[in-house]
Amino acid sequence: MANINLSTPIQQISGIGVIFQKKLKKLGIQTVRDVFYHFPHRYEDFSNIISISKVKLNKTVCVQGKILEIKNKRTWKKKMFLTQSIIQDNTGAIKVIWFRQPYLVRALKKGDNVCLAGKIVLGDDGAYISNPAYEKISILDARQNSISNLTHTGRIVSVYPETEGLSSRWLRYVIKSLLVKLSRDIQDILPLKIIQENNLLSIQQAVWQIHFPNSIALAKKAQERFSFEKLFLIELAVLTARMQLDKEKAAPILMDIDLVKKFVKSLSFKLTDSQRKSAWQILKDLEKTKPMNRLLEGDVGSGKTIVALIAALTTIKAGYQVALMAPTEILAKQHFQEVANRFRDFNINIGFLTGKQDKFISKKIKGETIEISKEKLLEKTKKSEIDILIGTHSLIQDQVKFGNLGLVILDEQHRFGVKQRANLVQPDKTQKQFNKLNKKNIPHLLSMTATPIPRTLALTIYGDLDLSLIKQLPKGRKKIITKIVTPLDRQNTYNFIRKQAKKKRQIFVICPKIEAQNSKLKTQNNISKEKKEKDIISSWADVKAVKEEYEKLSKQVFPELRLAMLHGKMTPKEKEKIMKDFKNQKFDILVSTSVIEVGIDVPNATVMFIEGAERFGLAQLHQFRGRVGRSKYQSFCFLSTDSFSSKTNKRLKALISSADGFSLAEKDLEIRGPGDFSGMRQWGIPDLTMNSLKDIFLVEKTRAAAQKILNQDPKLKTYPLLKKSLQKFQERIHLE
Ligand code: ADP
Ligand code: MG
Repeated sequence: MANINLSTPIQQISGIGVIFQKKLKKLGIQTVRDVFYHFPHRYEDFSNIISISKVKLNKTVCVQGKILEIKNKRTWKKKMFLTQSIIQDNTGAIKVIWFRQPYLVRALKKGDNVCLAGKIVLGDDGAYISNPAYEKISILDARQNSISNLTHTGRIVSVYPETEGLSSRWLRYVIKSLLVKLSRDIQDILPLKIIQENNLLSIQQAVWQIHFPNSIALAKKAQERFSFEKLFLIELAVLTARMQLDKEKAAPILMDIDLVKKFVKSLSFKLTDSQRKSAWQILKDLEKTKPMNRLLEGDVGSGKTIVALIAALTTIKAGYQVALMAPTEILAKQHFQEVANRFRDFNINIGFLTGKQDKFISKKIKGETIEISKEKLLEKTKKSEIDILIGTHSLIQDQVKFGNLGLVILDEQHRFGVKQRANLVQPDKTQKQFNKLNKKNIPHLLSMTATPIPRTLALTIYGDLDLSLIKQLPKGRKKIITKIVTPLDRQNTYNFIRKQAKKKRQIFVICPKIEAQNSKLKTQNNISKEKKEKDIISSWADVKAVKEEYEKLSKQVFPELRLAMLHGKMTPKEKEKIMKDFKNQKFDILVSTSVIEVGIDVPNATVMFIEGAERFGLAQLHQFRGRVGRSKYQSFCFLSTDSFSSKTNKRLKALISSADGFSLAEKDLEIRGPGDFSGMRQWGIPDLTMNSLKDIFLVEKTRAAAQKILNQDPKLKTYPLLKKSLQKFQERIHLE
């Protein structure tokens, strides 16, 4: 390997055979540079080399000695190969046994000096070092054998995730020999100033210390340096996007105090202070000539819709159109009904468009619903005759064109698919998407969510969003009483439900999500297809579960009550009718799949009964619970489960003990570990950074550094290397 450099493909590195190449490629490792960026996930500290006389039973130790003898044996009972050896230093000798590595006798010979690290265990005839890590050394001197020439023992040793059958020992060997040759060629994308100001390791130091650390502290510093680098790029990307967005123009939408007052007066309740404050922030943003990019965050039931409607009404009356997008058709329909209802006296044309409902599009004018064809609706939207278009993802189809779009509202933004979420992560993309439809200005964007975003995330991938928080629930709401229902409590709970129904309250029963068996579906290389098929099968399984539960409850348990069922396979019309009838109290109990998880608002419902609660995530359960407790009535959430695993218990107990989404999200993070934060994995961000994302200090540091450098040099002209890395990073995000 005479002429290799950082970009050399691994197949050109001599010593890496075809099999290993394949394994490396599976890990996404293509070039020498990639090899360097394959980081260990933990370390073992073998740095304390001790005299053989000092070894203690059951302790992991590192010793050096000369091999007095070494030979293979086969055990009688298990027919297993053992390699037995004795090593000696100037304080004593000890036995060594390796299991199932007969080839060792070829690598290690009598008379060789070795350094060994392993556990001391007691065998039938005395103590021995069991299966130690080993390496040959030239002389027996602990001080001379400094960490710089040891690789697998006598130092802090890196341990790599053992995927694809690549051993850590092999990786250490390959990485070290490449580092010796090429580490000096790695260029630092971080400007020297940033490195100095933030007390970071240089790239050369970092790449050595992450693989072959001199101390645990230095390994940490190396990790920090790489986390910093990655977060720094994210921040640069986010801040650059923000700078671009700030250059864009939006139509200023002027506040009309009288109009807002009239609307607020028409409501049957008083706005909370939080709602008023958020509405004010939004209306102030709308007045600007640059596009708003604001996230309205408030727990389930906090009343986000009304705030959004104030913004929508203001926009419409200023002469612009509004697009309101929801993740599910049922929720979109509910919004349509609510908007029609609340805007009744404001003379507004409302359109409704979802993917499935190609034939029947409703348009509501002055309280009257008329159905028009999709073509007609699209035409009217283009001619600005529709003031507010409500729907699902179908609103971002290319064929939907707005004449004069002023505001986009995205409800339950966290529920949009990974891809759409990735779009959202880039602040301007959704808006750009809509902008295609509207050449002149970029519309303002208001997204809404009940999912609390950790502050670190808010500063990174959502870094350029302005945030409005609804911190309080409307007055008079009572804390929802949450209980775990074991099979033994079931009858009592049914009796309780019966009593609630007698009091004219309503009940949701959620059937568990059924996981399809995937044995039949296993296709080797088409995971997404497999997942799709699995989804289809499991949603049919869900339907079956709902039907059975509905039969059981209506015939055996509550024959005297009125029940209905709801699932994803019903036609939009059917679903709409059921939801409408339920809201109008034509049923007491609605048996449903998770289709009603988000957004659904039936204030008279006071009981949420969740079957198979252990199958849902904490955030999901919290959303379900949020379907009740939307009025002055005391509400209840029953978590039915027959699983008694400690993890389930922990999760369900967390739900009982805390009512707000914020602390729940934190607990979820604790129990599950950092999961897939808003499509972060799609960004190709390794776990290292996922963990560092929890480190608010580091996040703030990188953000400040990125801001500073952009202030001085917005185009990064003086930092060509950094600029190139940023471009590459941005391209990658855009590809997804
Ligand atoms: P979410 O924030 O979960 O989207 P919604 O906007 O659906 O909540 O509101 C929940 C319920 O609370 C709705 O029935 C809504 O009409 C009602 N609501 C909203 N604001 C108030 C308020 N200030 N006082 C009383 N009820 C309110
Ligand atoms: Mg909502």
